[in-house]
Amino acid sequence: MRYNHLMLELIIKPRCVHCKSQKDIRFGLCPDCLEELTNYSPPFRCRNCGLTIRGEGTICQRCLEGTDLFDQAFFLFPYEKEGRTLIHNIKFRDRLEWLGILKSADIAWRLVLGNWHPDAVAWIPSSLHTKWSRGYNVSRELALIVAEMLDLPCLPLLKRAKLFKRRLSATGTPGERKQVIRQFLKGPEVVPEAISHVLIVDDVFTTGATVNRAAKLLKQAIGITKVSVFTLARVCE
Ligand SMILES: [Zn+2]
Ligand SMILES: [Zn+2]
Repeated sequence: MRYNHLMLELIIKPRCVHCKSQKDIRFGLCPDCLEELTNYSPPFRCRNCGLTIRGEGTICQRCLEGTDLFDQAFFLFPYEKEGRTLIHNIKFRDRLEWLGILKSADIAWRLVLGNWHPDAVAWIPSSLHTKWSRGYNVSRELALIVAEMLDLPCLPLLKRAKLFKRRLSATGTPGERKQVIRQFLKGPEVVPEAISHVLIVDDVFTTGATVNRAAKLLKQAIGITKVSVFTLARVCE
């Protein structure tokens, strides 16, 4: 009897998906793990793309080289440790409600994005990513939250050109990845007149190939002159 009770408690009481602690779980994480993500503030972040700068400085090497087609970027936390676990759970274990972490996060992201003054929010269409079992697209769900919090319209400016059977993550080389992205995305045919600055929202910034392609397509549309990027996480190697 006592054994059964213990078993039941172990099953029911939520654990931190990252460190397995059982104390005060929110968005699947304990307070310590949650704090790491919602208060990510390294001493030096690139003023243009938010990337952590090791050592000192105001702009990262990538932005100095200036090859990106988007104008600026920002992310909430690095795609590693707690951040990686959280995103895996959101995407592959249908924990969509944990995207609410964005609302409880430090207001830094809202201030940065608010200062950019975008006119509208757009998302990356699905099937570039894994097929969702519930049929949702994390990028779109995130875009809706960001748009609501910044009081901006959320528009379907990027479309899917073709449905790809093979998952992007299954592609081998960066060149192959670029090729898949090139064939997959489609820019808008018409853009509402008042829109010149678009904020693209996505879950993870990996190489930046997707958002760069999206930025290029958006800027080819009449009226759009500026593209910013916000992702929940970024691969920071
Ligand atoms: Zn934890
Ligand atoms: Zn940078």
